[in-house]
Amino acid sequence: MLFRQLFDPETSTFSYLLADPVSREAVLIDSVFEQLERDVKLIEELDLKLTFAAETHVHADHVTASGRLRERLGCQIAVSDAAPVPDADLHLKDGDQLRFGALRLEVLATPGHTKGCVSYLCRDAGMVFTGDALLIRGCGRTDFQEGDATMLFSSIREKIFSLPKEVTVYPGHDYHGRLVSTVDEEERFNPRMGLEKSVEEFVALMGELNLAYPKKIDIAVPANLLCGLSVPLASPDGASDSSGAVAVVMEKSGRQDAEIWMGVGI
Ligand code: FE
Repeated sequence: MLFRQLFDPETSTFSYLLADPVSREAVLIDSVFEQLERDVKLIEELDLKLTFAAETHVHADHVTASGRLRERLGCQIAVSDAAPVPDADLHLKDGDQLRFGALRLEVLATPGHTKGCVSYLCRDAGMVFTGDALLIRGCGRTDFQEGDATMLFSSIREKIFSLPKEVTVYPGHDYHGRLVSTVDEEERFNPRMGLEKSVEEFVALMGELNLAYPKKIDIAVPANLLCGLSVPLASPDGASDSSGAVAVVMEKSGRQDAEIWMGVGI
């Protein structure tokens, strides 16, 4: 398999390009709007055909490039069916597969950081792409987009820690210069949800994090619900009318809970 790990330094986000070296079909996981030109150039240089722009979830810290990638390269956008992204092409369920040439990614529903989080397992290569569900020695916060610490704990234990120990874990971010981990390492050394931790300890810890309001959430979430194709304008003080924008998109998915979904009280 052809594989590239790509990094956006502003948001410490990893994107992953996977391709079948024979058919040249490719998948880009968790693209970043500001890196669109870099990634299109790479895909063209490697003579790849982008089949899917796949999201692990609706990101709150950066805007996706998936909509632009679809316009430029004709790929399909894949996202969890539990995420209200009405214009995505594929609304993924646990057990679904993304096929690209002779290769495939299996969809593992790993909700908890957000309800619409999935991980992608490339079983043949022994790689799993966990988004923000499982980070290296950490995990994503659980206080918006129907996040739920108990759910996140079960997702990691049942869907990720049940994989063979040598499977390599590729996270959605790292803020400390690390690139990759393994199931074995996270079981042993993850301070939040390693095998020595109980669900009660985990839930208590997640409830006490007192994290700051995410810097880009008011821009990123409404934009990402539209595959990154519409970025609401910020007012001069930096705020944006995100709740209205989110409500409009979510209503297209038949949902009227935009305010709660954005994470009241964070
Ligand atoms: Fe996230």
